[in-house]
Amino acid sequence: MSVGKHDLSALRTAVSELEYVNPRQSNKLRKLGIETVYDLLLHVPSGYSKRKDVALALPGEEVALYVKAIEVKSPRSRKAPLKICFKDDTGLAEGLIFNANRWHYNLISSGEKILVLGKVENKGFSSITLTNPAMWDKQQAEAEGLLDINFFPKYPLTEGISNAVLSRMIRLAAKEFAWKFEEYLPADILKKREFATLAEAVRWIHLPKDREEIRKAMDRLRYHELFLLEISKAVLRAALEKIPGNRIDPDHRRILECFPFELTSAQMRAIDEIRADIASGRSMNRLLQGDVGSGKTVVACYGMFASALAGHQSCILAPTEILARQHEKNIRDYAAKIEVGIELLISSMRTKERRETLAKIKSGESGVLIGTHAVIEDRVEFDDLGFIVIDEQHKFGVVQREALVQKGIRPHVLVMSATPIPRTLSLAVFGDLDVSIIDELPPGRKPVSTRYVPEAKRSAAMAFIHDYVKFKGAQAYVICPAVQTSDMDIAKAEEEYVTLSKIVFPDLRVGLVHGKLTTEEKVSVMKKFADGEIDILVASVVVEVGVDVPGASVMVIENAERFGLAQLHQLRGRIGRGTQESHLFLFADPSTENAKERLRAIVDETDGFKIAERDLVIRGFGDFLGTKQHGVPNFKIADPVQNMDVLEIAKEDAFGLARVDPYATDLAQKYLVLHRGEGVTVAST
Ligand code: ADP
Ligand code: MG
Repeated sequence: MSVGKHDLSALRTAVSELEYVNPRQSNKLRKLGIETVYDLLLHVPSGYSKRKDVALALPGEEVALYVKAIEVKSPRSRKAPLKICFKDDTGLAEGLIFNANRWHYNLISSGEKILVLGKVENKGFSSITLTNPAMWDKQQAEAEGLLDINFFPKYPLTEGISNAVLSRMIRLAAKEFAWKFEEYLPADILKKREFATLAEAVRWIHLPKDREEIRKAMDRLRYHELFLLEISKAVLRAALEKIPGNRIDPDHRRILECFPFELTSAQMRAIDEIRADIASGRSMNRLLQGDVGSGKTVVACYGMFASALAGHQSCILAPTEILARQHEKNIRDYAAKIEVGIELLISSMRTKERRETLAKIKSGESGVLIGTHAVIEDRVEFDDLGFIVIDEQHKFGVVQREALVQKGIRPHVLVMSATPIPRTLSLAVFGDLDVSIIDELPPGRKPVSTRYVPEAKRSAAMAFIHDYVKFKGAQAYVICPAVQTSDMDIAKAEEEYVTLSKIVFPDLRVGLVHGKLTTEEKVSVMKKFADGEIDILVASVVVEVGVDVPGASVMVIENAERFGLAQLHQLRGRIGRGTQESHLFLFADPSTENAKERLRAIVDETDGFKIAERDLVIRGFGDFLGTKQHGVPNFKIADPVQNMDVLEIAKEDAFGLARVDPYATDLAQKYLVLHRGEGVTVAST
């Protein structure tokens, strides 16, 4: 079979090119995300109107009736509707037509059966009523292929385009183009999965003969969408498997001795998985998932040290300078027993210092580099970058990860995430990565007691905090939410700072940190807090990521209803790290059911994975992932959560085919381009 010859150009045709779509309509279609013939034909119905006998049509139901017009009653006034009486063998129906025209008047004279499609409004004693139903005379129904179907699609609509109009376009397009859906699945898979072909599925979903065809079409189209989701990852994965990676056989004991504590068994498990990867001779691509505070950094260090000791550089990328500096401090401590050069690269460095660092990176003198986005910039050149860590991966895009990978020679890649994703879902999102999970916290952590505080109890909570800080030596964060503009954000934090320092806690040391401070200023405030020179730290959400202050055991979150669940959980991870009993107070005024659900979930659950599952239910799939960021296409047909079983087989097939079947893979990738809406062609004239 030849590769690369597939011609999906017909499906790429812009709908504006179709003779049965006028320019006004093609603008409306764009609102539905429909630009190409492919989009149009994958605009699947949300349900169907069934063909029924008049006597069996129920109020509220959308039905299709085959009836004869028996009487036309002209409207009394211009505003009143034309009334057409219909009948079939079982009963009488009445159609109310506003804006009637000659065609309606002529229906009666033809004496032939007509197709009437609409919603049954009420069922009178002897008749049912449909207002403005869609109607076809025999000739029209025949032309559109409607005579022998029993299910009439109801499509998701947008203003200015009716179901009848959209149905007609789709039906005509289906006749013209459905057979152009070239099949990418090999016959044995079609057979094994009992799937309709793509072409059949496209035809059946719009023109089904019976329920069985609808079911089979939906099965195939859901699979199609999920297969496309998996195929690019499968291809990437298959390519990676072919690439040799530097083989590293770590000095296990020596590296473990670097760490000042016993590793948890979950950390050890992750380390063993990394060890096996880097010793395999292939490049590692691994996701490390673990709750905030579960000790991912140590695991990352293991890999970086292993690489550095084997003579390859390593690099960890952190999303903020504060976090990069914290990593630097910890990594320097850990690296004390081994001879590895540690460097920090951030954009706020002085030119001279920066130049020196760049030179050390280029010469290979720097064995482990800790940095921020600054590292991705072009000028940074490595001697031999062999191991990459992306911390807090959701703060980086795939593009940035790739840019760093490009600086190395087939480096091993470890991406870390503190936003747990339900296990099942990581399949969909991180299909190209192997997953390690740290599902255990270091010993001695106590669960944070979490309370929702309504406005009426604010002062009682503040009094508790005051005493806890004053007499028990605790430290507290007070988190203010980000507001629309960053200036507002600061104003809010400043206002809170003034209230707390002057009125609520005049006898305590209150500090303030927010996004507009320079890095130096932020670091200095954070250091004071870490050193215990500040009791209460008012912060806009800059403390969100990674910062470690074990003495902090109290957190107040203002307007907690404005935070997402994952964010609340991350914030909570900042406390409960020391020996003291920790408390989180959620000051909130939730007005939506959604916000109440979030607060309930954070109060009820402590496990990040359970929280992620609740979050998924509350927000739904697309929103949960912030789909763009993860490179996950918008789902039109399938729901990766509801259709998890389908996702699993789609993944299995895609990964299998990507290894052995370039024909299928190539064609599927062409579909993916279409599916993402990147393939519109307008015939040049
Ligand atoms: P995260 O997974 O959120 O990145 P960190 O790697 O920052 O977590 O670790 C959080 C804290 O736990 C750090 O202070 C670290 O020193 C400590 N830590 C990590 N692993 C262990 C362990 N096995 N025993 C005790 N403390 C640990
Ligand atoms: Mg971390």
